[in-house]
Amino acid sequence: MSAFEYAPAPESRAVVSIEPEYGLFINGKFVKGKKHFPSINPATGEKLSNITQASNADVDKAVLAARSAYQKTWSKMAPAQRAKYLYRIARILQERAREFAVLETLDNGKPIRESRDVDVPLAAAHFFYHAGWADKLQHAGFGSAPKPHGVVGQIIPWNFPLLMLAWKIAPALATGNTVVLKPAESTSLTALLFAQVCQQAELPAGVVNIVTGDGAVGAALVNHPGIDKIAFTGSTDVGKIIARSVAHSGKSLTLELGGKGANIVFEDAAIDEAVEGIVNGIFFNQGHVCCAGSRLLIQEGIHDEVVGKLKVRMAKIRVGDPMDKNTDLGAINSAEQLMKINELVDYGKKEGGEIWSPQCTLPSKGFWFAPTIFSGVTQAHRIAREEIFGPVLSILTFRTPQEAIEKANNTPFGLSAGIWSEKGSRTLWASNQLKAGVIWANTFNKFDPASPFGGYKESGWGREGGRHGLGSYIKGGDHE
Ligand code: NAD
Repeated sequence: MSAFEYAPAPESRAVVSIEPEYGLFINGKFVKGKKHFPSINPATGEKLSNITQASNADVDKAVLAARSAYQKTWSKMAPAQRAKYLYRIARILQERAREFAVLETLDNGKPIRESRDVDVPLAAAHFFYHAGWADKLQHAGFGSAPKPHGVVGQIIPWNFPLLMLAWKIAPALATGNTVVLKPAESTSLTALLFAQVCQQAELPAGVVNIVTGDGAVGAALVNHPGIDKIAFTGSTDVGKIIARSVAHSGKSLTLELGGKGANIVFEDAAIDEAVEGIVNGIFFNQGHVCCAGSRLLIQEGIHDEVVGKLKVRMAKIRVGDPMDKNTDLGAINSAEQLMKINELVDYGKKEGGEIWSPQCTLPSKGFWFAPTIFSGVTQAHRIAREEIFGPVLSILTFRTPQEAIEKANNTPFGLSAGIWSEKGSRTLWASNQLKAGVIWANTFNKFDPASPFGGYKESGWGREGGRHGLGSYIKGGDHE
């Protein structure tokens, strides 16, 4: 150990108690399932628990419970009362923040620093924010008596398990809907702990139901005739299947899908700040981020300087045990995701990209990928076009601002973009030209419940968060 090495700072896992087996959360109670599959800790390969694979009959029961709660309780309740439950949930999430952070890190592989400082506080903030809207909906611009859809089916991915749950459940409940939510199969544990929070908050039975399992359970929800609206976050491929299934069904649909965000560094940028933003843009959450800045566009004159400084900075990234508070880059969420990253990286090499990673020793157990950059990438390369969803950055160059915009927009996606420039007029000009739902200037990956989030083109339909996000859960609100 050199004189300046960090000492290990492990977070204790004693704050969580994980049951050997979990059932489904239907009508306010945990009910036993018949078939199970393991949930593993991706940092070690250790089995954490057995999760229920819900059957079609279980999905039926959950939808019926949500319908009954909608008709008998939730739609009849005074909006200020609904707000009370959302505030309670927000407070309990804060009180149990450490437990949620540790469980999220064990189940997902993300660094404890991120689950503790980003995922859990933002999840609580979403409940606080939407609690505030619950009794003010008539002032939100959706008419004097906005109406909920009814029963909403919600399907979420594994990259921000609790946070995506909060993005879905908080606005749905605030606007008077009841929900059946399906977490991703590799990360169900914080959703099941959230079910306990619903019990602790004495949320009326059936308002929130949680069914676990794989894509077949998601498809059962999507195709269920008792569902009025589907809200999906996940891959563009599955989003397209869902859009086809829902067409002509009369169900409302919002989709939050993939991305290939351009992070553009103009030659007048503050380079050291831009380098921090590039690292945050692609290595936050192992690059498992829909809005990651996974395509770096650098103006030609500063390419060598930026890449040189980026390599120096990347050599300082601490990869390893996600439960260590000093860790920057944790585990890849699953063997399947690691395979996908390896496949695209192999393509990148074959297509002539120049690959570089800092020296780092990866743990022998679990799923890991070193922070990686590819220089000399062109628009035609697969790694410039497809979402890798891992800690891998593709670097392209441009000569003029117009060329930067053309390259940035040359993608079927349109979720996020970043602009690095000290010139306000250039930043405003570029942000007006970029076809992306979220654009950050001289920063990256900033989230706030009051700010709408969502995509253009194959990145999705509709918005989550802010006043716009409320509209997705109000009849006719999507089109307003
Ligand atoms: P995925 O599409 O494979 O799975 C997402 C969810 O859909 C899971 O719960 C899965 O079980 C379920 N599912 C799978 N097949 C289904 C089907 N046929 N019908 C219904 N449900 C089905 O995506 P993933 O690998 O879990 O997540 C990564 C993707 O999510 C990336 O593409 C990422 O960009 C995207 N994402 C988008 C946002 C956003 O806000 N736009 C946020 C986070 C992640």
